[in-house]
Amino acid sequence: RQTGRDKLLLSPKRSDPDKLPADERRHHFQEIYQPFKPEQTCQAGERCLECADHANCRWTCPLHNAIPELIRLAKQGRINEAVELSHLTSSMPEVCGRVCPQDRLCEGSCTLESNSGSVTIGCIEKYITDTALKAGWRPDLSGVRPRSERVAIIGAGPAGLACADVLARHGVKAVVYDRHPEIGGLLTFGIPSFKLDKHVLATRREIFTGMGIEFVLNCEIGRDISFSQLIKENDAVFIAPGTYQSMIAELENENATGVLEALPYLIANTRNVMNIAEDPENPFVTLKGKRVVVLGGGDTAMDCLRTAVRQGATAVTCAYRRDEANMPGSRKEVKNAREEGVEFQFNIQPQRIVLNKKGAVAGIEMLLTELGEMDASGRRRPKIIKGSEFIIEADALIVAFGFQAHAMPWLKEGHVECDKWGQIRIGSNSRYPGQTTNPRVFAGGDAVRGADLVVTAMVDGRRAATDIIDMLDCEQAKATKAAS
Ligand code: FAD
Ligand code: SF4
Repeated sequence: RQTGRDKLLLSPKRSDPDKLPADERRHHFQEIYQPFKPEQTCQAGERCLECADHANCRWTCPLHNAIPELIRLAKQGRINEAVELSHLTSSMPEVCGRVCPQDRLCEGSCTLESNSGSVTIGCIEKYITDTALKAGWRPDLSGVRPRSERVAIIGAGPAGLACADVLARHGVKAVVYDRHPEIGGLLTFGIPSFKLDKHVLATRREIFTGMGIEFVLNCEIGRDISFSQLIKENDAVFIAPGTYQSMIAELENENATGVLEALPYLIANTRNVMNIAEDPENPFVTLKGKRVVVLGGGDTAMDCLRTAVRQGATAVTCAYRRDEANMPGSRKEVKNAREEGVEFQFNIQPQRIVLNKKGAVAGIEMLLTELGEMDASGRRRPKIIKGSEFIIEADALIVAFGFQAHAMPWLKEGHVECDKWGQIRIGSNSRYPGQTTNPRVFAGGDAVRGADLVVTAMVDGRRAATDIIDMLDCEQAKATKAAS
């Protein structure tokens, strides 16, 4: 009989999922990774050491998914049991399977990682839910006793949807408001469809609606409905409006024609791909036939680069001020971008936007950098090399330096306070970690943490729902005691 140690030493190498050829995927927005077949799932699952209760993968997953057990059920073909188990801790496992940075979370900590390569946990997670949904599996809420309470949720991103999911599974009516015409938040409008097919969210909308969750779309709180009205008409409110203020490059000529902000560019492109009417405040921009430079080295920068490639840009360059090892973006996405023809220029820092005679972008002046001492985040600080100026010619420049909290003046009517960065303040002097300065109002996701991850937004939404239910139970118990 093989011991865990034998299995570790003899484990066959990790096998990644098949990808569409780069030459093909440059021309469309379809998902590039091919789904695992049952035999691939089985082979991948066979590699797992079943590290049991202390499995690193489980504890580094922010949702603490029961990963070893899920892998075992998947390799045995027990998909219905696997999908039920998966939904005990996650609200959209098929989304996490596609977009979580597994290399930094569960897979990064897998016992096999430094040996023969981690188990392909993300692919197995995606396989379980995709297979179950295809076979007609839907959550069974027939045993759930409906309650009289109603909770309003602002934002249909992963935080808001996860909160609604847990509330619905406990019989509480959840009504989700979003200013967009579709659910998903950045899952739908930020993350491009070559990473996350939009049909995934369409299926989730059908599932959530079937669970009794109500969506009020094309509705902006603070404009179409006041925040105070929501507070008045509901037993509790969960706020998850994300972060939408782009960081600027602070460069001369940043408002010139041809300079684009990353997120509006991606959102308008996704609306176009999904055949949703153009938003006049954020029109669709095509970079076909253009030379494009993207400033930044995170995942949003990778999404912009790969979107520009698919739009038919003639040259697409990523300009990043540190070296490749210090790039914040996922290694997997950098590799995919390279395969699709993106050129990477490291250790360069933008200095000035160069304009043509018509006042539009003609290029960007760069300076070379070298890496100095560590900054607070543990990455080495880039230092400019004087006199090293050079120009990269470009017709379009996309600034992808990240996001911070946008102004939400409507929060004041609900006595919900923000911190000095404009992020919603939670947990101070309150019973529940997700409670804001108004005890009936909870908050989570990027609006609280700053720009982060899908999975952490889901954690916040699920935790807030549990806390709201606890709060409602306590109130009910008090009312019953007072009446008796
Ligand atoms: P959001 O997803 O931003 O959802 C907030 C929702 O609230 C939006 O739909 C918005 O329309 C709505 N809203 C805001 N204000 C109002 C209002 N007043 N009234 C009504 N509705 C309102 N994370 C990963 O884990 N993996 C990735 O690969 C990844 N790629 C990314 C790519 C891009 C381009 C970007 C920008 C982010 C990416 N992220 C990724 C980060 C991830 O998408 C976010 O961390 C996550 O979506 C945050 O979830 P949320 O629910 O807090 O907010
Ligand atoms: Fe399996 Fe890796 Fe998790 Fe261990 S850490 S249970 S080997 S997936």
